[in-house]
Amino acid sequence: MTAQIIDGKAIAAGVRKDIKAEIDARLNKGLRQPGLAVILIGDDPASTIYVRNKRQACEEVGIKSFYHELPSSFSQEALITLITQLNQDTQVDGILIQLPLPSHFESDKVIECIAPEKDVDGFHPYNLGRLAQRRPLLRPCTPYGVITLLDHIKIPCKGRHAVIVGASNIVGLPMSLELLMAGCTITVCHSLTEDLSDYVKQADILVSAAGSPGIIKGAWIKPGATVIDIGINRLEDGTITGDVEFNAAIKNAAWITPVPGGVGPMTVATLLKNTLSATARYDNT
Ligand code: NAD
Repeated sequence: MTAQIIDGKAIAAGVRKDIKAEIDARLNKGLRQPGLAVILIGDDPASTIYVRNKRQACEEVGIKSFYHELPSSFSQEALITLITQLNQDTQVDGILIQLPLPSHFESDKVIECIAPEKDVDGFHPYNLGRLAQRRPLLRPCTPYGVITLLDHIKIPCKGRHAVIVGASNIVGLPMSLELLMAGCTITVCHSLTEDLSDYVKQADILVSAAGSPGIIKGAWIKPGATVIDIGINRLEDGTITGDVEFNAAIKNAAWITPVPGGVGPMTVATLLKNTLSATARYDNT
């Protein structure tokens, strides 16, 4: 068996096209243009690239982006003041703070200052709580993007065993809540899990978000499984790779995402989708 590749780039392009069409239709009806405030603190090279991609994606679909590029010396107090202003700004439907923040910031505290209805990253405890209660509002972009991928290739979730490797608040944990909501039986593995391979071998749907290159061995993949690799790892030679041993895993899996070109593009497309849905909810349109 050789797995079919899940083309996240193409699927994300389709999502962006639909968003653009919806925004064009809004503007034709005389409705307001959606707005996203993007905050970048410091000059981390990866964050700078991510922010540039997000702003460009906004422009392409017709979302106005308000860019706040701030020095790493910026204080937490000043950041909270800025967030409070953006919470009240009627042109801003979504607020995105590029993580990680420099070490003198308390990220959890900062995220809690974003108005939940503008939290287009879906990281605010209110939005995570809504997801946990299966009544989501704004859903964390990467896990929600994975659900869109699974829907697109028509992978059934109900009753199937999903194993999630990684339990962070922004990726692994909401991923497990999404798959639970989709009807999977879930197992969540993390760095204290003993005998990781025993769990991975049972997965009908495997999602890895550990951030550790090659941690998932191809031989562990259950024949016919769907493998979603969220990990983005930069090797010493500059190559970007996932968590899964791709070349070995394709021999067992039925479907697999590549890295790059799998989940990554879906994250950005989902951010746009969340911004549009925040606008529509705000304007009641
Ligand atoms: P994190 O470091 O906050 O969390 C990693 C999680 O993996 C933790 O729960 C940890 O316990 C677990 N883990 C680490 N090593 C493990 C091991 N050996 N066995 C089992 N569990 C292990 O990272 P994060 O922010 O959740 O991101 C995870 C990965 O996803 C990173 O590579 C990140 O770059 C990537 N990411 C990708 C996208 C995307 O759009 N594709 C978006 C966000 C994050």
